[in-house]
Amino acid sequence: MYENEIENIASRGTNEEIYYGLLELTKNAMQQRGKIEGKKKLYYISAEFLIGKLLSNNLINLGLYDQVEDALKKHGKSMAEIEEIEPEPSLGNGGLGRLAACFLDSIATLGLNGDGVGINYHLGLFKQEFDKNLQKEVPNPWIKDKSWLRRTDTSYEVIFGGLRVNSVMYEIDVTGYDNKCNTLKLFDIDSVDENIVQGESIYFNKEDIRKNLTLFLYPDDSDYQGQLLRIYQQYFMVSNAAQLIIDEAAAKGSNLYDLADYAVVQINDTHPTMVIPELIRLLVKKGIDMDKAIDIVSSMCAYTNHTILAEALEKWPVWFLDKVVPQLMPIIKMLDVKVKEKYNNNPELAIIDENQQVHMARIDMHYGFSVNGVAALHTEILKNSELKPFYDIYPNKFNNKTNGITFRRWLLHSNHELTGLISSKIGDGFKKDANELEKLMQFKDDEAVLKAITDIKMTKKKEFKDYLLKKENIEIDENSIIDVQVKRLHEYKRQQMNALYIIHKYMDIKAGNKPARPITFVFGAKAAPAYTIAKDIIHLILCLSKVIENDPEVSPYLKVVMLENYNVTYAEKIIPAADISEQISLASKEASGTSNMKFMLNGAVTLGTEDGANVEIHELVGDDNIYIFGEKSDTVIEHYAKADYSAEKIYDEDPEIAKLVDFIIDKKMFAVGNKKSLIRLYMEIVTKDWFMTLLDIKDYIRVKEQVFKDYEDRAAWSRKMIKNIAMAGFFSSDRTIAQYNDDIWHLD
Ligand SMILES: *Cc1c(COP(=O)(O)O)cnc(C)c1O
Repeated sequence: MYENEIENIASRGTNEEIYYGLLELTKNAMQQRGKIEGKKKLYYISAEFLIGKLLSNNLINLGLYDQVEDALKKHGKSMAEIEEIEPEPSLGNGGLGRLAACFLDSIATLGLNGDGVGINYHLGLFKQEFDKNLQKEVPNPWIKDKSWLRRTDTSYEVIFGGLRVNSVMYEIDVTGYDNKCNTLKLFDIDSVDENIVQGESIYFNKEDIRKNLTLFLYPDDSDYQGQLLRIYQQYFMVSNAAQLIIDEAAAKGSNLYDLADYAVVQINDTHPTMVIPELIRLLVKKGIDMDKAIDIVSSMCAYTNHTILAEALEKWPVWFLDKVVPQLMPIIKMLDVKVKEKYNNNPELAIIDENQQVHMARIDMHYGFSVNGVAALHTEILKNSELKPFYDIYPNKFNNKTNGITFRRWLLHSNHELTGLISSKIGDGFKKDANELEKLMQFKDDEAVLKAITDIKMTKKKEFKDYLLKKENIEIDENSIIDVQVKRLHEYKRQQMNALYIIHKYMDIKAGNKPARPITFVFGAKAAPAYTIAKDIIHLILCLSKVIENDPEVSPYLKVVMLENYNVTYAEKIIPAADISEQISLASKEASGTSNMKFMLNGAVTLGTEDGANVEIHELVGDDNIYIFGEKSDTVIEHYAKADYSAEKIYDEDPEIAKLVDFIIDKKMFAVGNKKSLIRLYMEIVTKDWFMTLLDIKDYIRVKEQVFKDYEDRAAWSRKMIKNIAMAGFFSSDRTIAQYNDDIWHLD
């Protein structure tokens, strides 16, 4: 199929013409596939869908990729260059949004009837630029006239306090691997005005809701107008979702009393929580009795928790909700009263607390039927400490669904070479059943296979080197060890600890201890625009990069690269090139992590703490194929409970540690950096260090030195690589989604 069309498109003159030709062809091919259908449908509601570029992935899932690549080759072109034309949709921030995208792929691949529901943010999160070694945020427009988006006639009225808007629903088709399609539904309003943004900034009038409602993902909420805007966005998303759910069910014959036979809702983190009171409100409006409506909605909503960071569990003041969603507040108050009556006014369980704050996750836990964590350790922490009062009353609601990633994107697309090698050794079965990767263990002592794996790593390093040179004019050495930490910038993820290691290594080299082989440290991270310390950490890394580059004694051995505007496209290039996967969050703080899985699948070895899914990686690959360091989660949780951690004490008592931290404010750093920012970060680490960097730094340095030493036994290292690849099957999102369906959704 499509031979002539593909040949015709491939023969066109410019990359642009070829791209748009393939876009249309792919969209048509997906329409031809048809829709996945069924009585019951899953609605996966999420503020973020970090879908990445779609052309290659869709072609892979349609089985057309090789045909297109061959046709392009005949005309002297490659998919890689054609894909450069495609803008990456800026609809997500990090792991949470990427998870939602992987899930959509797996839901369609398993043939399950399920759509994503979200918002069509015109300017996305923001695009990161570096200016004077500091992060600058600029808008990230991504919507073009011709794109994957399809405008539909579906429109709903959404009523806020003193404001009504009419939505427009857009759709993006999501094709399963060798299967039919579901859709991602993104809601928008026509009155949004990109011109209200001031210049090349992310600032705009936060009160002009008609014009700003779908401009940005996570608009700055450091003031109360920004917080109100987030509530407007959240309600806009869920009011549309709720109306869509009821409409679609009614069209299939639901009398609404049986709505749960037609719809199940997965609430991805707390942002979509208001879908619960909104569905109740709509059912009551349709004449269903209040208690009955609550029962119906409670039997169809499930909640996924993504974090134990208290500040990330959303709370909104009652008066905010009164202002933005006055029609919802009576329902939320009633849900709260019922909880208080049932549980003797226990303040730990209250939806509305004594400070008149509405706890969104508590609505989900009381009025949803399932509460899941995203990795085994995370779920245990929820049950035993963070959400214990809820686990005590609802033990049967709690369950674990360890995250996963789609292998179509993170292996088949991002690493053709490795995919080819695996296919040639164990056949293609692993593409459908990821557990078949374990068959690779037959080759654990096969020198030819081990050599092929290290050769592929070198190929991917060279490819990345070329990409980086072209994109950012930065040159790296493909013969160096490539050590990578790419993820959102947050103190709990501890990029600052990695930076302290680099300071250690810098000093060590200055003292005459040259490493056996050069090392390239790669970072990629966006910091939230209002998160000052996170931006200071980016500044620290960029300044270190300069100091090292300017030092001829050290620069032959060390290089620090901070990728500008890290995103899915960048991830697809750097992850296959990585030797070492840095997963160094403070134990207990990273709910799961998913980049850890992507790296493992591509043959990088993890250097990490016993946190999130690292624990499960450790169990799968065994002690010899992962590097674990640092305090365990129990100890960390105890430190917080007793409030007995003191960075200042460690700093005062350990001159080796003090020396590393002091370098942040060394005159060499001031020569290239911003004094105020560096001093602020230094003070933060010495006096607060909320995520206990100094607690783990020595063990981190010790183990990391061991990693670099072990890397030199190339044969032994390649056996670690193959073990990691072979055991990665568990982390296929196909497995995760099958579990969601078996335990929570029950779609046929
Ligand atoms: C996978 C992914 C993430 C998540 O990374 P973690 O290390 O798990 O936090 C974030 N951003 C992008 C672009 C990703 O592809």
